[in-house]
Amino acid sequence: MRVGIGYDIHPLTDGRPLVLGGVVVPYPRGLRGHSDADVLTHALIDAMLGAAALGTIGGHFPDGDPRFAGVSSLVLLDETRRLVEDAGYRVVNVDTVIIAQEPRLQAHLGPMARTLAGRLGLDAGCVGVKATSPEGLGALGRVEGIAAQAVVLLEDRPGGISRRPAAVRGARATPGTRAHRPGPPR
Ligand code: MG
Repeated sequence: MRVGIGYDIHPLTDGRPLVLGGVVVPYPRGLRGHSDADVLTHALIDAMLGAAALGTIGGHFPDGDPRFAGVSSLVLLDETRRLVEDAGYRVVNVDTVIIAQEPRLQAHLGPMARTLAGRLGLDAGCVGVKATSPEGLGALGRVEGIAAQAVVLLEDRPGGISRRPAAVRGARATPGTRAHRPGPPR
């Protein structure tokens, strides 16, 4: 068993759709970023990569890479799932929290959980998506952006460990190893 944590934050801006957990949430503003800036999915990706010691989202899907301009973060999640499974793991469960002053997200949490669960091949009951308010405090409280946190539990896939990169088998992945190279999005 391995556990990983992820955190992300993006600024709110005019003229973009608000995408959280792969769900478009009706709101006059959206998150700014190179991809669709889905802060929840990004936090989840970093938690999955961290649990497998496979590096970071920025290492696999760099901001400056035109392949990822405007891409749905669900495509990046698909690729992350492949990386984690190739390393000999599978996701057991996920828990997440979105920190947003606006908009109200309660009605959208179920669809987000089902969307993320579907991409990970999990039952919806294995993916938690919660939202909390920053209570008006700080930049998030001033509605300047939205943040998200995620935690992921991985377990070994039967027979999967033989395909794990050496850097991960040794639990000492270092930048520049094969495990850190970005792969093409599926
Ligand atoms: Mg991000």
